[in-house]
Amino acid sequence: MTKKLFIKTYGCQMNVYDSERMAGALSAHGYAATDQIEDADLVVLNTCHIREKAAEKVYSELGRVRMLRDQRRADGADLTIAVAGCVAQAEGEAMLQRAPFIDVVVGPQAYHRLPEMLARRGRADRGLVDTDFPVESKFDELPRALAPAGPSAFLTVQEGCDKFCTFCVVPYTRGAESSRPVRAILDEARQLVSQGVCEITLLGQNVNAFHGPAPDGAFHGEAPDGRTWGLGRLIRELAEIDGLARIRYTTSHPRDMDEELITAHRDVPQLMPFLHLPVQSGSDEMLRAMNRKHRAEDYLRLVERLRQARPDLALSSDFIVGFPGESDVDFQATLRLVEQVRYAQAFSFKYSTRPGTPASLMKKHIKEAVKAERLAALQDLLERQRRTFDAASVGLRMDVLIERDGRDPGSKVGRSPWLQIVHLEGQELAVGDLVTVEVTGSHPRSLAARLVSSPANPTSAKRGRAA
Ligand code: SAM
Ligand code: SF4
Repeated sequence: MTKKLFIKTYGCQMNVYDSERMAGALSAHGYAATDQIEDADLVVLNTCHIREKAAEKVYSELGRVRMLRDQRRADGADLTIAVAGCVAQAEGEAMLQRAPFIDVVVGPQAYHRLPEMLARRGRADRGLVDTDFPVESKFDELPRALAPAGPSAFLTVQEGCDKFCTFCVVPYTRGAESSRPVRAILDEARQLVSQGVCEITLLGQNVNAFHGPAPDGAFHGEAPDGRTWGLGRLIRELAEIDGLARIRYTTSHPRDMDEELITAHRDVPQLMPFLHLPVQSGSDEMLRAMNRKHRAEDYLRLVERLRQARPDLALSSDFIVGFPGESDVDFQATLRLVEQVRYAQAFSFKYSTRPGTPASLMKKHIKEAVKAERLAALQDLLERQRRTFDAASVGLRMDVLIERDGRDPGSKVGRSPWLQIVHLEGQELAVGDLVTVEVTGSHPRSLAARLVSSPANPTSAKRGRAA
């Protein structure tokens, strides 16, 4: 009999990708995915540890899942509870102390062992924990068994981080930086395209640190040289795949933005003109304390080079306000940097103390009220910039990839090259169509558009004013 699997995913896109792979691995063991937690025989919480709030959410959700299991048991059935992701990695055994009703705690590098752990759990008298960093790669062991959910898919090319920003848990939960081999990535990309995917977002905690082992055997007439490829070279190769119309990548570190990647923005039309490039702060003093390895001026110069390579490039960033020791002067420097860059969108957070990180031991922690005030001021500025960017889209022609049906009958929702949500009214279009539209209006979180031609040249994504 088929068992039902419910996965709840928190946090970043890498967790979304990992959840898909776990679902794929478990489908081979008789689990079919459900989006109704009440129907599930197995609940997996794929967790995020990046900020305190994210980690605490997991325990409140676990309380609800436990109640569901009690209900199940009262009805003579059962429910297995697994916790995956970065909270599992960071807390490991301690999770079982705090919530002994958990059956399995599994860290991100051990997902391929999940089916075997579930089988073993039946024979064990307590929950099982695996937070190892095994020598075998989970990617080799976790084939992508499920069909992609839509025309746009994630593909993890790199994991972990060696940057050790002083506020961040990622180097501890995801481990050292490592890249997948180029051949495995190209194979997975081709498989996705053969299944109808036309947009791939390459993922990595530090994706532009990618240095994947070069393909073995003769490749495009080149002898194998045992060297590694950077992200720019990988993107050029992916752009050769017929039917792959759009390529994106996230998240990048400013220090790893090399010339090859910048010129890929100039030369590869499939590489979308949108880049998430977190700066965190505009103050050199804060950047130093954060161990970001770049100054505000380096970032601004980089943005200039990127915009020279691709003049219509839109930028996004992450910001942290209220880092220990942040003065008003430091915060003003962040606002000034935002004014200079002009972002299309951005994420901003109050600094959150993470146990075990160097910043947690720093002096001069900032009061919550000051953090809240600074966050509100920054978000107000970023929101105004987002609206300005969206308003400037009105009247433009652009390609839109249709991703899903809209709420009204016949309406569709897609994405512009700049990641804006675009609503098309009353059109008989299919999910996966790449169409040219003219933007007719801008709303707080989306654009409205009318169809100009369908289907569009799949690789044209130039930003041009409508005739
Ligand atoms: N690798 C990316 C980079 O270098 O910027 C970001 C990875 S992290 C998953 C996403 C974002 O969470 C960070 O850019 C940062 O703004 C935020 N973040 C990380 N640790 C944080 C903390 N302790 N408090 C508040 N925000 C944090
Ligand atoms: Fe965390 Fe990103 Fe810094 Fe790595 S580069 S430590 S993932 S914020």
